[in-house]
Amino acid sequence: MDALSGVADDELLARMPALVQAERARTRDVIEHLIAIDQRRLYLDQACSSLTCYCIERLGYSEDEAAKRVTAARMARRFPGLLDELGAGGLHLTGLCLLAQYLTGENYEVLVGQARGQSKRRIQQLVAAHFPRPDLPSLVSPVPEQLGALPLMTAGAETGGTQAIRSGTDHVSAHGPAPNQPGRLEPRSAKRWSVQFTASAELYEKIQRAGELLSHAIRSGDLATLFERALDELIAKETKRRLGAQKPRRHRPLSPGSRHVPVEVARHVWERDGGQCTFVDKEGRRCSARRFLTIEHRHPFALGGPATTDNACLLCQAHNAQAARRVFGDAHVEARIRERRPVGQQKRDPSDTHDTARAALCNLGFSKREVERTLAELVQTDVATEVEPLLRAALRLLVPEVPLGRAG
Ligand SMILES: [Zn+2]
Repeated sequence: MDALSGVADDELLARMPALVQAERARTRDVIEHLIAIDQRRLYLDQACSSLTCYCIERLGYSEDEAAKRVTAARMARRFPGLLDELGAGGLHLTGLCLLAQYLTGENYEVLVGQARGQSKRRIQQLVAAHFPRPDLPSLVSPVPEQLGALPLMTAGAETGGTQAIRSGTDHVSAHGPAPNQPGRLEPRSAKRWSVQFTASAELYEKIQRAGELLSHAIRSGDLATLFERALDELIAKETKRRLGAQKPRRHRPLSPGSRHVPVEVARHVWERDGGQCTFVDKEGRRCSARRFLTIEHRHPFALGGPATTDNACLLCQAHNAQAARRVFGDAHVEARIRERRPVGQQKRDPSDTHDTARAALCNLGFSKREVERTLAELVQTDVATEVEPLLRAALRLLVPEVPLGRAG
């Protein structure tokens, strides 16, 4: 990476399209060569019993990488147009493999046309819409402790020997994931999905308990219906918590220095920004993140930005951290991220606080001398232990005419 340390940001980004194009052309070449090697069965003389074995043992591909390339080679032999799709980036290897078992001479144009330029997830949905699979049965079945997983809520008919508790025609299930995986959502047809995850003993008990409590309402004991009921409640509760009740609340004046965002402001911001990160790049493309969003101050709170609708926006964690890095520097942001990690209550080193505040104030254009003098005045006060209060106090001294912090 040292070789790139002197390369400007724009230059790095500008190089990527050509690099990716070259990579795709190489992939196309690899597949074309594999087709020829397969046809001539050259892997046999390499002491390999199959093309896949040759890819793994002689070429050093992982099992997954080998499987994708072999599938692509076999498909491209039947449909040579796929080589051009790979080379031009119309289809990635993963997408091609998703289509593999369904492609025929009759549907080639339609399927490849619809899959071109799409993500893996979109191609999975496309395949599920064209070739719907039947629903999986709902079932809860145990997995052995020694696999490192807790009692399982899922696993389809593939689990054979386990004692499955079936309920209804829907499913919480699919093919068994490796232990500790985050779970899986997979389209089975245009409007049906399979859901699979491993549950703790506690969650298993909760599922049983909820099923008992709702046994009159959900007579079939159907797991999907039960989870839908539970999620409806959760979504309603969380939406209310974020957006506030629709009726206006009695206004509670904020204390100066409070970083609390009033619930009315949060609701307006959430609605105005459509529950999506508001970061927009130079070309006008908006960040698509809709998870881990936080309400952030456009003009930073620590620098006196008020908690008003105009000064607040939704940002994802990454763009929030980027904005903070610009003002406070990398070290401060890394420290904050470490602090937010759950285990242990790390106390901030007072000299870190001082350094961060000094760097932020210098970044804002104050001279080193006036910054040092101001911070020295504040060092014995109780604001000196946290960056934000310290910065706000320092700014009050440095720019006394700027109105600070009162929101609403
Ligand atoms: Zn974002």
